[in-house]
Amino acid sequence: MRGKMMTTPLTITEIMRFADRHHGRTEVVSITADQPLHRCTFNDVFRRARQLANALSRLGIAPGERVASLAWNDYRHLELYYGVACAGRVLHTVNPRLFAEQLVYIINHAEDRVLFFDVAFLPLVEALADKLSTVDAYVILTPADKLPGSSLSALQSYESLLEAETDEYQWPVLDENDANLLCYTSGTTGNPKGVLYSHRSTVLHAYASCMPDAMRLSQQDTVLPVVPMFHVNAWGTPYACAMIGAKMVLPGPKMADGETLQRLIEQEEVTIALGVPTVWLALLAYLRDSGKTVPSLERTVVGGAACPPSVMEEFEQKHGVRTHHAWGMTEMSPLGTVNSPLRGMESLSAAEKDAVRLKQGRGIFGVDMKIVGDDGEELPWDGEAFGNLKVKGWWVCDGYFGEDGNSGAHDEDGWFATGDVATIDPLGFMQITDRTKDVIKSGGEWISSIELENLAVAHPDVAEAAVIGISHEKWTERPLLIVVPEEGTSPDKAELVAWFKGKVADWWIPDDVVLVDELPHTATGKISKVMLRKQFADYSSQS
Ligand code: AMP
Repeated sequence: MRGKMMTTPLTITEIMRFADRHHGRTEVVSITADQPLHRCTFNDVFRRARQLANALSRLGIAPGERVASLAWNDYRHLELYYGVACAGRVLHTVNPRLFAEQLVYIINHAEDRVLFFDVAFLPLVEALADKLSTVDAYVILTPADKLPGSSLSALQSYESLLEAETDEYQWPVLDENDANLLCYTSGTTGNPKGVLYSHRSTVLHAYASCMPDAMRLSQQDTVLPVVPMFHVNAWGTPYACAMIGAKMVLPGPKMADGETLQRLIEQEEVTIALGVPTVWLALLAYLRDSGKTVPSLERTVVGGAACPPSVMEEFEQKHGVRTHHAWGMTEMSPLGTVNSPLRGMESLSAAEKDAVRLKQGRGIFGVDMKIVGDDGEELPWDGEAFGNLKVKGWWVCDGYFGEDGNSGAHDEDGWFATGDVATIDPLGFMQITDRTKDVIKSGGEWISSIELENLAVAHPDVAEAAVIGISHEKWTERPLLIVVPEEGTSPDKAELVAWFKGKVADWWIPDDVVLVDELPHTATGKISKVMLRKQFADYSSQS
């Protein structure tokens, strides 16, 4: 027997409609290329989203067609999130940090019809335009009087595009499984792959991310997403904040600028900020140097890469900010786990609490996870067994855009192989030990590069560190520690190696250390182990 309940489709149009009526006056504060600080409300964003939807019809973009954005976090990008997707088109958020060939590949692969971009990316777009075979309109996210001269013929200003339209628009009734947003993974090998989110997956992800043991979002919060809107939709905050009515603070092009972040946090009374560890290293360094503080900030959510314990400690001890480790990926919208303490954990010793905090967290209802061995058999949740981490759930992709058949990452039961290696403890806390490709295999046993990196950055003279496996005749691979020293220091290699003694098993300790000025990073701000492995391919240990 079927239940007799309403079956309104789960679409982000419903999030927008609700926020427009119930949280309309909630503020959205942005830094943009043309404005040092812009204030508007959700009402304004959705009014302009209706104008944008009319403009898309005028530009001849058919339902289901892709509209690209190449932009930082600000209110205009937020308008694209809703205006494009609620009008039944698909927003393709493009990561400007990708290499030129990758940008051309993904824009052509997505068959984007129009490209909306920040003025700072004009030289990049001009250089690529000849190779973009499907784009026939270019829109700069700026007013007409700030439109720069350009070699692009079909160039127009976003503000004049909107001004020409009425703010009356009848949003179409969409199927909840229709696509709303497309985001390509940076892909360490081969071409990037497109993850195509649906309205339904996005709504369910937004619900889950607000839950108390996930991001605990409320209308009382002021949220600073320092995660880009071009990378996994800023971890879903544009939807979660509208759903819950939380104020948004969007830092525009000033994402990794400690001074701007501190100012925004203080001035706008930010309560929760989200970002990758690199961003927090920049903020904490600025706070240290300037003596400034972040009094309103209650918590940070850190993910995208393992958060060094030193970052958590400094946030908590110096600034009273709690750090929640979170884990996920583009294919997962992105949330998989969040680290929130369990009941009874208050009585743990400081060292025990630290050990738990380092883990990537527990599952959120909506995504299930398991670890399996190389034979595919599930491994126990004992906190010891390392295995390939697989997930299944409502906001996990079941394939890639434009690809038919099995992705290779999905098994016959539908579980998706994340490419991460992890342990899960008896309380359900998952800990990432490596990417499958980054794991170091020494004498047939696995060494966690993340654990060694975490220990290395806790050394006072180490600013950033990476550990890779280098080939070794006897052991197959041995760990090599690559270190960027803190400014003004030149740590002694033997002393760095000795630092690990007693902290990990002796056979895990790196045999050698290399000091470098900087480490290579990927388009999403993570240390590029692929580049490092290439760079040190012929390295032979000094010891
Ligand atoms: P992306 O799809 O670019 O967001 O990258 C996802 C990958 O980032 C995951 O598969 C992990 O390897 C890594 N990652 C994300 N969050 C964490 C975390 N908290 N700790 C360690 N690695 C993480």
